[in-house]
Amino acid sequence: MKAPERQTPGVYKRRIGDAMVTVINDGFLDIPFEILRGTELDDMKELMQATFRSHPPRLTVNAFVIETGKNTVLVDVGGGSTTVYSMGLLLDNLESAGFAPNDFDTVLLTHIHPDHSSGLLGPSGEVLFPHAEIVVNEDELNFWSDPALRDGRSAAATPYLDSADMVIEAYREQFRPSREGSVLPHISLLALPGHTPGHSGYEIESAGETLVMWGDTVHVPEIQIPRPQVTSEYDVDEGLAHSNRRRIFEYAAKEGHLVTGGHLHLPAFAHIIPDGQGFRLVPEPWAVVV
Ligand SMILES: [Zn+2]
Repeated sequence: MKAPERQTPGVYKRRIGDAMVTVINDGFLDIPFEILRGTELDDMKELMQATFRSHPPRLTVNAFVIETGKNTVLVDVGGGSTTVYSMGLLLDNLESAGFAPNDFDTVLLTHIHPDHSSGLLGPSGEVLFPHAEIVVNEDELNFWSDPALRDGRSAAATPYLDSADMVIEAYREQFRPSREGSVLPHISLLALPGHTPGHSGYEIESAGETLVMWGDTVHVPEIQIPRPQVTSEYDVDEGLAHSNRRRIFEYAAKEGHLVTGGHLHLPAFAHIIPDGQGFRLVPEPWAVVV
């Protein structure tokens, strides 16, 4: 028998009160250390070495299904076929978990970067989620829709203009621009601007349990959790990205809420606790019983 080259399907279920959350892995993304700033390169390399992690950092890319009993929701959609080969597992992994694109009534986007939104489209740019309302922070939709962005005003945004255009054009009639607060029963939008102007997390609350989905608050957990000041070239406003990262870390730590994110490693559920000048992630172990 030929040795397998690919992992078994990247899916994992976790109950939040009466809701079911399923992590759907879309693949991974390697990024150079050089795009990260806020601490010395040696410090970053030491942090990766100390946790036996890869050089350069390998980011996990996740989407999430939320079933509340009333709604079947997808949070982010991965990179689809328009990005690098290491992403685009969403549809296969959704199928492994028993879901098809037509099952979703809502897609919640954390922001309109390609590793979170390009999976809305098939290889020929076709709409893959025709029955879903697409919830996104109004500031995010306004930012990427602004023709003035074409003048190169935001170096962080320029590489992603074309992928954003494709998504916005194809789904124009399906968007529901939203603000901080409730977007669906049991689900609220948390405005976390900085990485992009409308970058958002989502909070799920059911039967006394809370899950904070913090989107791209963290790209490299091994570095940005102990050093929340580390920002990236992808951040449209690095100062704001830093302050909102600290704010959501402090909130989740103080409340003891469970957290997850688009770039946390599977099974991708954890708690966060203060540790020195920064924080420490305490990942939940794989649970056999859902
Ligand atoms: Zn991302």
